[in-house]
Amino acid sequence: MTDTKIIDGKAFAERLRADIARRVELLKSQKGITPGLAVVLVGNDPASEVYVRNKGKQTREAGMNSYEFKLPETTSQAELLAKVESLNLNPDVHGILVQLPLPKHIDGEAIINAINPAKDVDGFHVINAGKLATGQESFVPCTPLGCLMLLKDTLGDLSGLHAVVIGRSNIVGKPVAQLLLRENCTVTIAHSKTKDLPGVVRQADIVVAAVGKPEMVKGSWLKKGAVVIDVGINRVNGKLVGDVDFESCQGIASASTPVPGGVGPMTIACLLENTLKAATGLS
Ligand code: NDP
Repeated sequence: MTDTKIIDGKAFAERLRADIARRVELLKSQKGITPGLAVVLVGNDPASEVYVRNKGKQTREAGMNSYEFKLPETTSQAELLAKVESLNLNPDVHGILVQLPLPKHIDGEAIINAINPAKDVDGFHVINAGKLATGQESFVPCTPLGCLMLLKDTLGDLSGLHAVVIGRSNIVGKPVAQLLLRENCTVTIAHSKTKDLPGVVRQADIVVAAVGKPEMVKGSWLKKGAVVIDVGINRVNGKLVGDVDFESCQGIASASTPVPGGVGPMTIACLLENTLKAATGLS
């Protein structure tokens, strides 16, 4: 039986945030620039309120300026577009994040694509998605970037490994697949219409699960020694669980992320990394 290493995303994210804080200090002292992140929340979704609070707190802890805007549920699309435009024009704001999901009467795509791509620290703007897909320097969505960092930290060179990404959303699945392709993995993207998912997963050296179905991926689906990254966040009877049945992977996977404490903490750390990159300019 293989010992399965637990990939400690919480500890990794803490180290990354400390390193970002150090680089922010340098930017302030050498160039007089304080990175600024604006977060816009529309409505009262309790989960979004928690995310926005945490983002603000961690932004300030990294030595950056945090600008938080809480707009009422009744905000119109035109009003939100005007807010985004004012942030685009504000030189103190280097990164703009509009918290998703937005209320139903607002076209989320139109809002995201109104953000100046150079301030799109979520990496969801169609220009950044296109640049990622065509191998150009861009802002990479935060959760996928966090997955990649954990994989590289665990495995080193990913070249030639077979990665199976379960899920094809624009927010997680597709950008994770693009990043892994850039790392020279052989990438399979699975989704709800995939036939024989266990058989597909069994071919993988790397499994990334971004599905939103509690504990769907079983240890019996894995090739021995596979590395498993669980993006899922599901609340079951008040408890957080991932998309992977963590216990059943023990002794089969060589390493896997827990939920909570795996990918989750990486997302805000990568948001801070992207904000710092926005303040220094894409290179
Ligand atoms: P979406 O609902 O947008 O996408 C889910 C994907 O899973 C779809 O592509 C869907 O396929 C696929 N899928 C659904 N059911 C199955 C199935 N039975 N077999 C195979 N594939 C299936 O979710 P997101 O990508 O936004 O999020 C995925 C998970 O990650 C969620 O649990 C979410 O909470 C979590 N998450 C965590 C973050 C973090 O910070 N850690 C950040 C963002 C998300 P199809 O396209 O065919 O419908």
